[in-house]
Amino acid sequence: AVVVGRRVRSRRKWRRVVGVLAELEEGCETTVGRLRQVVDAMAVEMHAGLASEGGSKLKMLLTFVDGLPNGCEKGTYYALDLGGTNFRVLRVQLGGQRSSILEKEVERIPIPQHLTSSTSENLFDFIASSLKEFVEREGGGSENSLNSRRELGFTFSFPVKQTSVSSGILIKWTKGFCIQDMVGRDVTECLEQAMTRKGLNMQVAALVNDTVGTLALGHYHDPDTVAAVIIGTGTNACYLERTDAIIKCQGLLTTSGGMVVNMEWGNFWSSHLPRTSYDIDLDADSPNPNDQGFEKMISGMYLGDIVRRVILRMSQEADIFGTVPSRLSMPFILSSYLIAAMLEDDSPELKEVARIFKDILEIPDVPLKVRKLVVKVCDVVIRRAARLAAAGIVGILKKIGRDGSGGITGGRSRSDVKMRRTVVAIEGGLYTSYTMFREYLHEALNEILGEDIAPYVILKDTQDGSGIGAALLAVAHSSNSVDSVQ
Ligand code: BGC
Ligand code: MG
Repeated sequence: AVVVGRRVRSRRKWRRVVGVLAELEEGCETTVGRLRQVVDAMAVEMHAGLASEGGSKLKMLLTFVDGLPNGCEKGTYYALDLGGTNFRVLRVQLGGQRSSILEKEVERIPIPQHLTSSTSENLFDFIASSLKEFVEREGGGSENSLNSRRELGFTFSFPVKQTSVSSGILIKWTKGFCIQDMVGRDVTECLEQAMTRKGLNMQVAALVNDTVGTLALGHYHDPDTVAAVIIGTGTNACYLERTDAIIKCQGLLTTSGGMVVNMEWGNFWSSHLPRTSYDIDLDADSPNPNDQGFEKMISGMYLGDIVRRVILRMSQEADIFGTVPSRLSMPFILSSYLIAAMLEDDSPELKEVARIFKDILEIPDVPLKVRKLVVKVCDVVIRRAARLAAAGIVGILKKIGRDGSGGITGGRSRSDVKMRRTVVAIEGGLYTSYTMFREYLHEALNEILGEDIAPYVILKDTQDGSGIGAALLAVAHSSNSVDSVQ
């Protein structure tokens, strides 16, 4: 009788666990129909954000970048790329024709954790010192001496209200950064002051968002590039807009008639987004509640923690691991790197999953059927993220009439629509490093666009675009640049 009772109890437990999974799957559902609603909502919000300041959760920020590199840029330029887990210092030598990059040197430097919540002076002193060491290492020659003033592209991947192509004010922090004294201050000024303190004679010629750098490099290599997307620690997109569509900025004039707009889509929100109780809790526990809602469902910083919350719930509802293991209650203990590793574990016994549970969560001997369940959880969360990102991309295409929905030819059937080759530059670890994420994203893109249109839309992975692109823009805007727009 005791044995039978135990078996019944364990069957009941298992049913509860499966119930948690089923509920998650339902909550994360992204049918094509729902994705199309997200597409429409994205396009609508883009219009609203362009119509008036504060008109949407999408800030649709002006970048003052009115032309994109064309492959003729020449010279040696530096760039700094600050925005996620690493920061990068780069030097690129541009050939002056046919998009040739003669040489590039990239150094990745991890940002000491304490600096992300310290003071702006501490953070920028660290950056300026690292840059100085990098510059000094090139040594020799009068041209290379520290006395000649060099121009720098600065990629700063947070929401910035630009005041010119080379200056702008930090609106808020994202991705766990939290340096209060910086908010509302000019980012370029902070860096230039630090460089002066460190005796480094350099000037910021272009201050750009990482999406804008990525778009610049994408366009350098392929002139059909019209938008750029980052899916890494955080997520965001930018695209080339006609100035007359930027209604909130009447009289905006550029020689090209266009300007790159930094959407800050991480803060996009729509009631059509499939939100679960885990998302709500994650948001409430974050340092920026009610902010960056789209980002919290998509980007690398958060996916692992959504998975952790689901497993914790399973463990609480039906003690699959005995008493609830304490590590499961530690925020951010599971990185997106780990959940991708679990998802891509193709060994029949799911050895990698077992290893992560043992080493990271300190839960040994997890039964195979529980390991399978965990993989399923990772799959649901990653798939939702990738599919929502795809919907976001199509939202942009819709806004600029490149989704084949007929806006350009006026009501002819889908197959008659004259589509132009449309390239979207894409960067960020989630997309570039995780096959499953990439496949889910492409699959959703094809589903939403349909087979007639999908072949015209090309996603291109740009390597180090966010940094190199800033160097390219520094060329275009060095010294004699005219920031004619206000
Ligand atoms: C920031 C964006 C950035 C994106 C990708 C977001 O958290 O707000 O400015 O482009 O992350 O790095
Ligand atoms: Mg980055």
